[in-house]
Amino acid sequence: MTAMRTDTSNETRLREDICRFGRSLFERGLTPGSSGNISVRLDGGGWLVTPTNASLGFLDPAKLSRLDDQGRLVSGDAPTKEVPLHTALYDTRGSARAIVHLHSTHSVALSMLPEIDPRAALPPMTAYYLMKCGATALVPYYRPGDPAVADAIKGLAGKYSSVLLANHGPVVAGDTLEAAVFATEELEETAKLYLLLRGMNPRYLSPEQVADLVKVFGVTLPEHGHGD
Ligand SMILES: [Zn+2]
Repeated sequence: MTAMRTDTSNETRLREDICRFGRSLFERGLTPGSSGNISVRLDGGGWLVTPTNASLGFLDPAKLSRLDDQGRLVSGDAPTKEVPLHTALYDTRGSARAIVHLHSTHSVALSMLPEIDPRAALPPMTAYYLMKCGATALVPYYRPGDPAVADAIKGLAGKYSSVLLANHGPVVAGDTLEAAVFATEELEETAKLYLLLRGMNPRYLSPEQVADLVKVFGVTLPEHGHGD
């Protein structure tokens, strides 16, 4: 019974956290209209996700979609049609406890540039980008809700906590909701920096500086990672 009570109060807090972070992201213009979605894994199994056609700025904790481990709706409103994105990332990254997906302007702009390396969508521009996002993968365009996007994410084999969907937006996993939100913000700000500096021959972090961060902060980068 004690464990049950703990789970229930934990779920109540997570529901409030999803709404609080959602409102904050929306109010800062990081995902417009009814775009974007957030999910969190529950300790007792299953997960919470934001409903379809819901603005992240105006979520109701009681109406969040609660899904079981198989992704079936248990309670609340119908879930976002982008559930396959979340499922694919949870399935391939065992450490993921929360996922944030936004239609944030600079990340979407970045995803359309011709020079983007699909295994390192951003160069190593700042220490915090590396520490919070590692490397970011770019997957091709899919129609929203197309289950094929799940195969593309599964194809990354869980090596990336941050993934950019071409012409669509970022999907970022974290070991807490706060970590996933902060990493998504870091990705968006780094995409903005990249666009500000594009064509200006900026100095990025050197391979030695990247290696130092990997060593000191335990940053994990996929093998292909940031060469320069
Ligand atoms: Zn989307």
